[in-house]
Amino acid sequence: MADVAPRRGLLIILSSPSGAGKSTLARALRAWDPTIRFSVSATTRTPRAGEVDGRDYHFVTEQRFKQMVAEGEMLEHAHVFGNFYGSPKGPVEAAIAQGQDVLFDIDWQGAQQIRNSSLNTNTLSIFLLPPSIPELKRRLESRGQDDAETIARRMQKSWDEISHWDGYDFVLVNADLAQTETHLKSIITAARLRRTQQPRLTDHVRKLQSEFEDSQ
Ligand code: ADP
Ligand code: 5GP
Repeated sequence: MADVAPRRGLLIILSSPSGAGKSTLARALRAWDPTIRFSVSATTRTPRAGEVDGRDYHFVTEQRFKQMVAEGEMLEHAHVFGNFYGSPKGPVEAAIAQGQDVLFDIDWQGAQQIRNSSLNTNTLSIFLLPPSIPELKRRLESRGQDDAETIARRMQKSWDEISHWDGYDFVLVNADLAQTETHLKSIITAARLRRTQQPRLTDHVRKLQSEFEDSQ
């Protein structure tokens, strides 16, 4: 028998308006299960202080980005906040085949493209809502990462992202962080047990059938 991975990996998509908690929760998930891979996007935006090329993003020129799209290297891509972002396909396909989950921090456009792709059956999409708009603004400010103008731009774009909340499998209101973390882990645990994620089940049921027939 060909060596089939015990389960098929999941594409776990986390989307939210900026500041609702994606990066915080992604970090928590990686600490919970270090086998979860993080999809490192390519982007044309400039790196922020502390961001490392190849770890946080692949920082590329617009020309290189467009070449990657033209050559079919992107699983999905979108224009967000005036820059191009996209998820390289190769590492995702390799991880999924090996039974490893891949976490995506991408916007609604990317989530929609993956949902419409052949990988749809292996996809788990989760949208995070903030408890309130003032709290979203407070979180963006408390992060201390962006200047006032950038925060204002992110706040202005937040409704565009929030308005796509109903295209996701699960929606979590990220009020209490510990509770959101617990819910997220439960959702992932359940999705890993979907019939379609367990390629070895057919062989197992065949074995049960043969044992059943022998017992008659
Ligand atoms: P995103 O990645 O969605 O832009 P972050 O994960 O960077 O958002 O979170 C923005 C800020 O809000 C961070 O300072 C983070 O510590 C804080 N934060 C995230 N979730 C919560 C929560 N449930 N309650 C309070 N603060 C939170
Ligand atoms: P930031 O510039 O703050 O890192 O990201 C801005 C937005 O782009 C976030 O909403 C993030 O989810 C989204 N994003 C990051 N990478 C990708 C990607 O590869 N594809 C898509 N569609 N969106 C992305």
